[in-house]
Amino acid sequence: MSLNDLYQEIILDHGKKPRNFGELETATHEAEGFNPLCGDQVRVRVRIEEGKIADLRFSGHGCAISTASASMMTQLVKGKTVDQAVALVEKFREAMTSDSVGPEGMGELGCLSGVKQFPNRVKCATLAWHTLRSAVTGGGKVTTEKPDA
Ligand code: ZN
Repeated sequence: MSLNDLYQEIILDHGKKPRNFGELETATHEAEGFNPLCGDQVRVRVRIEEGKIADLRFSGHGCAISTASASMMTQLVKGKTVDQAVALVEKFREAMTSDSVGPEGMGELGCLSGVKQFPNRVKCATLAWHTLRSAVTGGGKVTTEKPDA
């Protein structure tokens, strides 16, 4: 099995069995994200306690890449402080858009680096992350066509 095949397997596994998927009744923060180019929709709900992401879940529907990325994102940021989570959003965005930066130290997210070759799919991969940032910073709705608006 090549590295690419392995990466593919991991993405498909998260896509089929997303971690931390569902509603979070005790959420204190939430945001919705939409990627009109692919039709991916995601809602991220977060419970913040004492500046930390005590719990988070995502719901919605999208392609395997957007679902896998959201799933991995929830695993990575759970237990982190809000500041750390926002820094990870930035790091992941950079890793997915820059040739010189890779997702080192981001665990299974390294699997998504192959998506870089397909700029439209990068939006699938980063959607949940922009949505998380919006949720924890009190942002609201996010669309990949204006991620920072
Ligand atoms: Zn997509």
